Amino acid sequence: MDDQVTFTIAVLPGDGIGPEVIAEGVSVLRAVESQLHQVRFQLQEFSVGAGEYLRNGDPLPPATLEKLKQHHAILLGAMGLPDIRWPDGVEMTPQIDIREKLDLYCGLRPIRLYHELHTPLKKYKAGEIDFLIVRESTEGLFSTRLLKHPPDANEVTDTMRITRQGSERLFRSAFEEALARRRHLTLVDKANVLPSMAFFRKVFDEAALQFPTVKTDRIYIDAASLYLVQRPETFDVLVTENMFGDILSDLAAGLVGGMGMAPSADIGDQYAVFQPSHGSAPDIAGKGMANPVATILSVQMMLEWLAHTETRRGAAIIRRVVERVLSEPKHRTRDLGGSLATAEIGDLIAQEIAEGEP
Ligand code: NAD
Repeated sequence: MDDQVTFTIAVLPGDGIGPEVIAEGVSVLRAVESQLHQVRFQLQEFSVGAGEYLRNGDPLPPATLEKLKQHHAILLGAMGLPDIRWPDGVEMTPQIDIREKLDLYCGLRPIRLYHELHTPLKKYKAGEIDFLIVRESTEGLFSTRLLKHPPDANEVTDTMRITRQGSERLFRSAFEEALARRRHLTLVDKANVLPSMAFFRKVFDEAALQFPTVKTDRIYIDAASLYLVQRPETFDVLVTENMFGDILSDLAAGLVGGMGMAPSADIGDQYAVFQPSHGSAPDIAGKGMANPVATILSVQMMLEWLAHTETRRGAAIIRRVVERVLSEPKHRTRDLGGSLATAEIGDLIAQEIAEGEP
């Protein structure tokens, strides 16, 4: 009997370094596939982003969005270019449009230190910084981002929209993540000043009653920025609204080597997108300097989320091999102070996977 499972993956390389890091993510995915039983991946590429806008006038054509929904998962590189903007001055951000249109409310951003040479904080060794940011990704301070304002406006307001439904589902996911880790969840808000954030905290307190085995803390976003730098080892899972999560994710990435080390997943009840947390990095695009590890770890998150015994085994293989390869000080790209090119570190990881584990 043939009980092979085929997972269809929509691949969106996007702009800038997006195609460079996606090439390495795909080569690692193919290497893992060679090690798995009964599981195959069928990849289909789509053009979305600033480049697509320049070609066809729409960064995310509606027909493409419909096709994305027909895949089991979406793997995304990076989108947007600082010089390609709408007439009102804001950039096109199809990666955010996709989150909102597919209702991907739960942004997962794991932060892990793989080698002491990667962190600017001198006292930490591999594995000693290891936490997860859960970022709400459909409302919060991004909620009125698409409002149009007259070009001669003298006042422009953005709204922090926090709903009970949006917060409850976010907190449920965050508590479940904490249960699967070290059972410690920290709410990051600004409940001392903003009524929307006091409401956010109230809904969090209610949710906490349903998860009595998870230890909880509540801290303000300004203090969170301080504590993440001073004592990152004390965090397990942090949950926060959209904009705070956006900013904290980059700060946290800086603790473990920068944007090239920070994977992410945007999860909804029906769909999910996996992508490095970084942008299109036009400053290094086309130079073979991008670090593809964040993308490779996003592939790992995708395999975990697909939740088949074999894809989970594949995720564990990636995790172990990345850990092993990065434990060698010479295995570093430029952003980490080394000299390896994008394809060199990608090849090291893919080859070690394809050769099978010792
Ligand atoms: P960025 O993340 O692209 O770059 C910030 C810094 O990190 C740069 O110095 C860059 O060289 C470095 N960097 C990023 N990824 C790296 C990698 N893989 N390896 C090594 N270094 C890396 O952020 P930005 O410069 O603020 O934005 C550039 C463009 O990307 C903008 O158009 C922005 O709107 C867009 N953007 C897209 C996404 C996304 O697609 N998810 C996220 C953030 C920004």
